[in-house]
Amino acid sequence: MVHVTLQQGDITLVEADAIVNAANSGLLGGGGVDGAIHAAGGPEIRAACERLRATCLPRGLPTGEAVATPAGRLAARHVIHVVGPVYDPAEDRSALLRSAYTRALAVADELGAASVAFPAVSAGVYGWPLDDAARLAVTAVLTADTRVAQARFVLFDDRAYRAFSAALAAAS
Ligand code: ADP
Repeated sequence: MVHVTLQQGDITLVEADAIVNAANSGLLGGGGVDGAIHAAGGPEIRAACERLRATCLPRGLPTGEAVATPAGRLAARHVIHVVGPVYDPAEDRSALLRSAYTRALAVADELGAASVAFPAVSAGVYGWPLDDAARLAVTAVLTADTRVAQARFVLFDDRAYRAFSAALAAAS
C-alpha cells in the first residue's frame, strides 16, 4: 500500500520523482500552483505542454485526466498535470476529483516514479470545500492500486494542512 505523508510548503521545492500540477484543460499555464510550477520549472514545461496540445491533446486535457511532462529546472524529474473539476454544489463531481488522483498515480506507474507529491487539487480557484477535497484526496490515494511507494501531500497553507491532517487521521 502507498505510504502517505503530509507537509506544509511550496510543492515547487519538493524533491520527488514526480510532482502533480493542478492544471487547467488548456495546459498552457494559469494561476495558483500551476503558475508557480511553470515559473519555477521554466520554459521546458511550457514547451512540452505546447507539444501535447499540438499532437495528442488538441482539445486539451479532459477533467479527471493526467499527463506527464519533464520538470525543467525543478528538483522533481517529472510533472504530472491533472485537471480537477470545478466545484459545483448542484452536481456531484467527486468521481472526477478522485480520478485526478488515481490517473496521476497511473501515469506515475508508467514513468516508474516511486515518490509523488500532490497539491490540494481543486481546492483553490476551482472552489472545492477544503475538508471534502482533503477527504476525497486522501481516500483516493490510500485505496489506489499503484506501485508508487511514497505519496506526499504538500499543502500551501496552515488551513489546508489541518484539513488534510484530519482527513488522514480519519482514514487510517
Ligand atoms: P485549482 O484550480 O485546482 O483549485 P489552485 O492552484 O487554485 O488549483 O489551488 C490548489 C491548491 O494549491 C490550493 O490549496 C492552493 O493554496 C495550493 N497552492 C498554490 N500554490 C502552491 C504551491 N506553490 N505549492 C503547493 N500548493 C500550492
